[in-house]
Amino acid sequence: MDLKTARQIVDALKQSDRILITSHVDPDGDSVGSQLALYDYVTSLGKIAAIFGQGTIPSKYLFLNGIDKIVTDSSNAVFDADTAVVLEATSIERIGKVKRMLTQGMRIVNIDHHIGNSNYGDLNLVDESASSVGELLYKILKLDGFRMHRETAEKLYTAILTDTGRFHFASTTPDALRIAAELVEAGARPRVITDKIYFSMSAEQTRVIGEMMCNAELVHQGRMCVMSLTEEMVEARGLSFADFEGAVEYSMYVKSVEVGMLFKSVGDNCTKVSIRSRSSFDVAALARRFGGGGHVNAAGATIMMPFEAAKKALVESAGEVFSAND
Ligand code: AMP
Ligand code: MN
Repeated sequence: MDLKTARQIVDALKQSDRILITSHVDPDGDSVGSQLALYDYVTSLGKIAAIFGQGTIPSKYLFLNGIDKIVTDSSNAVFDADTAVVLEATSIERIGKVKRMLTQGMRIVNIDHHIGNSNYGDLNLVDESASSVGELLYKILKLDGFRMHRETAEKLYTAILTDTGRFHFASTTPDALRIAAELVEAGARPRVITDKIYFSMSAEQTRVIGEMMCNAELVHQGRMCVMSLTEEMVEARGLSFADFEGAVEYSMYVKSVEVGMLFKSVGDNCTKVSIRSRSSFDVAALARRFGGGGHVNAAGATIMMPFEAAKKALVESAGEVFSAND
């Protein structure tokens, strides 16, 4: 982590009075945990802060202390801030409707760990080697001697746990593990948090996942798994797509699979794809071809194409990469 920029961020936050915190649309564990932890920090400094986002918070994160502080429908929200901290967003477009709230003269602080971040901030702390934004925030808070209590520790633990795929991905570095250990020392409860996030589904959720797995297709000689979730499948059980955040993980359960994809039909002409890989197959590069982004082994894109056409295009595109690499 670039210490100079981190110190500048601490100074900037201290000089601010009103701080707007935001992250990418359709929040995940890193964005939710990091936003809440940053809120704890800046309010401990006596600042007025507010968190604005877009998209439903997956119910598995609702146990986090202060979760109700996140405004999930920011369409008509107003907050007069001097500084905006944008977490986990490769480009400013990723914050969706909240972009409208970043008015001229506001200082923008960009903290991210994605490849290809466009450095849209006045201060940019972009560290691709960090497991999560939660890890970067932990280091920033430590720099300033923030006294970590259990609530904040659990938010940062959630960020690191979920973004490393439960300490599974290559981003599970010594630093990530050391920080996780320090968070546990500060009171974070691994058993409780993992249970809440990964083992608290409703029976309906497991049924939909069963259906999704039954219908999964293995293509490219079993090297790729394609799964689908449609609005009908989800709504038939009274659920929403937010109940399936992270479900792409199931596409990697088969040993031969190098690339896994989960397609969600978000509308007639809009398809969201989540992509994972376990090899050197760069799924961020693949996602970028479709206007998305992410990391080498975890990426995504929102494609303005009908469901079947988007699937076909991605499968073909991945096939080209397999051929080129062979
Ligand atoms: P997901 O599959 O939604 O869990 O996202 C995996 C990774 O890809 C995360 O690091 C996201 O930030 C990134 N990502 C997902 N969707 C998009 C998108 N539409 N544009 C850019 N990056 C994305
Ligand atoms: Mn992240």
